[in-house]
Amino acid sequence: MEAALGNECDPLNCWRNYPATQQPTYPDLDALKRTVEDLRTRPPLVFAGEVDSLRDMMAKAGAGKAFVLTGGDCAETFAESTADRVRLKVQTILQMSVVLTYGAAMPVVKMGRLAGQYAKPRSSDTETREGVTLPSYRGDAVNSHEFIESARVPDPARLLDMYQRSASSFNLIRAFTMGGYADMRRVHEWNRGFMANPAYARFDALAGQIDSAMQFMEAAGVDFEALRTVDFYSSHEALLLEYEAAMTRTDSRSGDLYNTSAHFLWIGERTRDPKGAHVELLSHVRNPIGVKIGPSASVEDLKELMDKLNPHNEAGRLTFITRMGASRIREVLPGLVEGVKSDGRFVTWMCDPMHGNTVTADNGYKTRRFDTVLDEVAGFFEVHDALGTVPGGMHVELTGDDVTEVLGGAQEIDEKALAEHYETLVDPRLNHQQSLELAFDVAQALAAHRPGFQPFDKGSFF
Ligand code: PEP
Ligand code: MN
Repeated sequence: MEAALGNECDPLNCWRNYPATQQPTYPDLDALKRTVEDLRTRPPLVFAGEVDSLRDMMAKAGAGKAFVLTGGDCAETFAESTADRVRLKVQTILQMSVVLTYGAAMPVVKMGRLAGQYAKPRSSDTETREGVTLPSYRGDAVNSHEFIESARVPDPARLLDMYQRSASSFNLIRAFTMGGYADMRRVHEWNRGFMANPAYARFDALAGQIDSAMQFMEAAGVDFEALRTVDFYSSHEALLLEYEAAMTRTDSRSGDLYNTSAHFLWIGERTRDPKGAHVELLSHVRNPIGVKIGPSASVEDLKELMDKLNPHNEAGRLTFITRMGASRIREVLPGLVEGVKSDGRFVTWMCDPMHGNTVTADNGYKTRRFDTVLDEVAGFFEVHDALGTVPGGMHVELTGDDVTEVLGGAQEIDEKALAEHYETLVDPRLNHQQSLELAFDVAQALAAHRPGFQPFDKGSFF
C-alpha cells in the first residue's frame, strides 16, 4: 500500500509499517477487524476544542504559569469502574488541586489517569505459577486477570468494553465537574475533614492560610458560583494501537487528526522508540502527548522524539514525564534537562515519582515507600531549580479508596499492613490520605519557595 502512495502513507495505518511492541496476539484476526470497524463508527469521547484548550494549558505549565496534576490507577479494571470509585478518585484529585493551587499560586491542570487506562505494558509475555505458564495479564482491555488459560486469551470484544467503560466514566466525570460537585467551598470542606486528623499537624499553618484565603475571597465577594465548575481532562497510555488508531478522527473544522479516546495520551517507557509504531501513530495527531522517560534515555533519544513528535516546535505539544527513581534522579536528570534546554525547543517537564520506585516487600507485595516517592518529587524540583528550568507537574498513581499498597505516610502503613487492603492487580497506588499528604507536602514546599513568601517553615524539601 505504501508503494502506491509513494513516500506518503495513510496516517491512520502508517504505524503498521513500524515495529510495534507490547501488542496482544489475537487468535481471531477477523474478529479483531470487525471490532475495529465497529469502533470507527462510535462517537468521539473528547472533542477537538477541549484538546486544544489542554494543549494551551500544557504550554502554560511548560512556561511556569500552570501546574499539572495527573492521578489515577495504574490500570483501571472494568469491575471497579463504578460510580463510587470514579467519584472518589475525582474527589481526591480535586482536593489535591486546591492545595496545590494555593501552594503554587497558579492554576492547576486537573487530569485523570482514567476513563481509558485499561491496558498495561508487561515486562514478560508470559506468567508462570506453580509450573503452569500462561500469557500475561495485559489489562482488562485485552484479557482477564484470572489465572486460567481461556481467560488469558486476548479478546478483541474487550476493546468495545473499554470504549463503553471509558464513555460512561467520562460522562460521570463531566457531570461531577460541571454540576457543582467540584465547588471550591465543598472541596475546601473535604480538606478540613482531612486536616482534622492530628497526624497532619505539620500542615496546620498551610491549611490555616488556605482557610483564611477562602474567607477573604468570600468577604471580597468572589463569585463562588462561577467556581462551581472545573475543567477536568482525561488521559491514558496509548498502548493498544488498533484501538488508538480506530479512535483517531479528522476534525471537520480544521481537517486535522485528533485522537478522540482521551485529551492527553502518553507513550510508555517501553514503547517510546522514536522509530517504533507508537511514536509514529501519535506523531499524526494534534493532542498534547507525553513520553515517559526513564534513566536509560539519552539526550539524543529526547531530540529524536522532539523531531518526530513536535516537528513544528509547538509549546504544549510535548511533555517529558521523567521517572528516574529517587536514588538516581539527581544524577541522571540534570544532563537530560540541560541537553533539552540548550537545544532550545519547547518541552513541558513532569515528574512521575512512582515507576522508578517500585520494590518488593519481604512478604512478596509489590509496593513503594511514601518517603521515596516524595524524595523523587523533591529531586525533580531541585534539578529544575538549579538549572533554571520549569517543573511543570506531577503524575501519580492513586486511588480515592482506603487501600494499603504504598508503605509509610502519616498512617505508617508497614509491611504487615499491606495485606489488609491490597487491591491493585498491577502497580501499588497511594491511597486517599497518602495522596493528600503528598499534595500538602508539595504545596508547602512550593509556597515556601515563592519569592518573597516565607510565612512558615520551609517545606520538607528544596
Ligand atoms: C505506567 O505508567 O503504569 C507505566 C507502566 O509506566 P512506565 O511506562 O513509565 O514504566
Ligand atoms: Mn503503573
